[in-house]
Amino acid sequence: DPATQQLPNIDPSKLTIKLNPELAAVPAPEKLTFGTIHTDHMLLLTFSPESGWSAPSIQPYGPMSIDPMASCIQYATNIFEGMKAYMGADGKPRLFRPDLNMARMKRSADKLALPPFDEQALLKLIKKLVLIEKRWIPTAPGCSLYIRPTMFGTRTGFGVTPSTHATLLVILSPSGPYFPGVVRPISLYAESRVRRAWPGGTGGFKLALNYAPTLGPTRDAAKMGYDQILWLFGEDDHLGEVGQMNAFVVLKQDDGSLEVVTPPLDGTILPGVTRHSVLDLTRAHSAESPIPGLPTDLVLHVVERDIPIAELIKYSETGKLAEVFGVGTAAVLVPINRIGYGEEGKEIKIEGGANGFGPIAKAVREELMAIQEARRPNAWSVPC
Ligand code: PMP
Repeated sequence: DPATQQLPNIDPSKLTIKLNPELAAVPAPEKLTFGTIHTDHMLLLTFSPESGWSAPSIQPYGPMSIDPMASCIQYATNIFEGMKAYMGADGKPRLFRPDLNMARMKRSADKLALPPFDEQALLKLIKKLVLIEKRWIPTAPGCSLYIRPTMFGTRTGFGVTPSTHATLLVILSPSGPYFPGVVRPISLYAESRVRRAWPGGTGGFKLALNYAPTLGPTRDAAKMGYDQILWLFGEDDHLGEVGQMNAFVVLKQDDGSLEVVTPPLDGTILPGVTRHSVLDLTRAHSAESPIPGLPTDLVLHVVERDIPIAELIKYSETGKLAEVFGVGTAAVLVPINRIGYGEEGKEIKIEGGANGFGPIAKAVREELMAIQEARRPNAWSVPC
């Protein structure tokens, strides 16, 4: 809508800051779980067709009132992002490849016909909010400040039409490990009766409505003793995602090389920032730019292709299924040690090393975290 484009966009120079007079106590890092508490402030912007994006406001975190007829309540016009701020040893907070989150958020907004926004302006404001909340960034290993940009339609009325009004907010949550305790392998149930995503659907976008239908099946998988669902799709039941993570599989080849496989971005897979980074790191592995911890002469064939569950079973039966792991912002990288499938309690077992980590999972996780925590200088790590 060209008229929309001419309305005021997000303008960081108009930011107003109202500091919270009652600052909460920051919990000890060992007490942190994932996403249970919030910091003292939030960033808030609203959009209306009359005035475009409002002046941004950083204000005390708190409840908001929403009209019962709002588009987000009635028709699920809600999108979100998940990113993290890490505290470097130099005391500077940094974000990990935030441009990729901003671009994905813009695509999500467009998918739900929510108003467009200037991604660089929003990123500037997120950096500002993180700097204000700096004391909340845990420095313990594996801990970080989770950032949750959220946008929802606030048009009132029962007409099923694009939400002309919207609210954009950014909230922060100091976080420990996504799966509590020492990093341990998780188990999956390969779900072939219920689908998370399908071609032409919304699985490739970060929309809240993708998550709600996964809750029932995940509860049922938990009753069967599994941590997460391995989503499948198609006649051949090929691999989709691992719960809220992208899936990776490492297959042994006869010549001693390894095939590193992840499902392609065919519309059923969320284009994960971590997935993108794991592909970049493993593709670059060579004598010139080795992933520390892996033999420099190890040959990795990195491929984006469909993996039917039957192929996974076949590789497992012939002892050539080396590793399976999930990757995402919240958990970084988690090894998988068991995949249940079918009705009869059949399982694929994957042997890992210490804490279930195979060599690729261990080295890639270490390298990602070294970059995120700015122990290894890299342009992916962006100062606030
Ligand atoms: N798949 C799904 C369904 C997710 O919700 C997420 C988390 N955003 C991911 C994969 C991993 O994406 P990222 O690496 O960008 O966190």
